[in-house]
Amino acid sequence: MLFSPCLLAQKIEKYIGSVTIDMAGRTYRSSLDIYFSSYAESDTVKLYIQGGAEITSVKSGASSISYKTTDEELVYDSRKKQILIPIDNITHKKISISYANSFDEIKNKRFQYKPDWTEFNIYTDWFPWNIAYGLFHYDLKINTTDSVIGANLSENNVLKSTNATFDMSFLVSSKAQRKTTKNGKINIYYHQVADTIINSIQEKSEQFFSYYEQTYGPADTDELVIVVSDSKRSLSYARPNFISLNFDEQFTKTHIKTLAHEIAHLWWLKADLATWEDWLNEAFAEYSAYVVYRTEYGKDAYDDYIQKIENWLQKFELPTLWEIEKSHSESNRVLTYKGALYLCELENRIGIEKMEALLKEMHGRKIVTTTDFLDLLTELTDPTTSSWFEEQLKK
Ligand SMILES: [Zn+2]
Repeated sequence: MLFSPCLLAQKIEKYIGSVTIDMAGRTYRSSLDIYFSSYAESDTVKLYIQGGAEITSVKSGASSISYKTTDEELVYDSRKKQILIPIDNITHKKISISYANSFDEIKNKRFQYKPDWTEFNIYTDWFPWNIAYGLFHYDLKINTTDSVIGANLSENNVLKSTNATFDMSFLVSSKAQRKTTKNGKINIYYHQVADTIINSIQEKSEQFFSYYEQTYGPADTDELVIVVSDSKRSLSYARPNFISLNFDEQFTKTHIKTLAHEIAHLWWLKADLATWEDWLNEAFAEYSAYVVYRTEYGKDAYDDYIQKIENWLQKFELPTLWEIEKSHSESNRVLTYKGALYLCELENRIGIEKMEALLKEMHGRKIVTTTDFLDLLTELTDPTTSSWFEEQLKK
């Protein structure tokens, strides 16, 4: 094999295994085989896991291998520790990790265990992960007597990835109720959320979905699961075909905008999530949501909203979008909001119709790099516009 720099880094290819969840007993345990597509020799594999997790075994091949765990650290309210495994101990680029944990060990306030509704995702560090090891596939059997809700879930509770991603996200809730949109494409699961809110989410989801479909062409997927909880936290997140929508008591225009953003990811989620090219996902989803917001509430409300975002962004000293590291503390704000405002400026310059054509082509041609996007912009407008836009991104 040729020696190349990219072989110097650890890359996870896939996770295969199971998790057994005992909601009443407030525990979960898991056995995962982690396959690497590459790694550097004489280095150490570093994986994060929820603090409090008890590692029962780490194996490679048929035998147990030595490893260390670090002290726990607190990152954004989340307790983590690292599992450190010397690569020289690993054979066939595969390790098998078994561990168990109690839900009570999760101290992250945003993801406290509730017997009727528990979300599993990267924020709870329920599986060993390292974002620097790239995007992966997974095949996960979920054992529980409670109901499991997730995207691409088989009848026997096997959760499989459709796209390479960075999370294994699902919900366990036997109390969740379900509503399906009239187009049959969106299933909404909820618990203890007012009917008026759920009806509004159902109606808006369907409306936004058809708006995007008409404007950008067919979505990358035909199935969408939306889970809605009045969790008193304002963190919503989207994974391929899966949206978790959270709010605190009131369902506001901003939540409608969030819903529009997350649904837009059915069109905008093709670019590399691990690099700055992620702005082609985040800024495009955010901009699409502003467009929907304008259709919904009118031009004045849209202008006010954009102004609010601009004022808010000015409070921070934001770095340049171009080639920003994902690990930068401001990367999310820059890739999502700063990027979206650039797209609004582009729309001002080329007009709504051209902008729609641009996004439609971008989606249709599956463009996933900024270079290709700028080429498309040149093709649909002119070189001056394209270099002007490039300059914006480099500001
Ligand atoms: Zn997003």
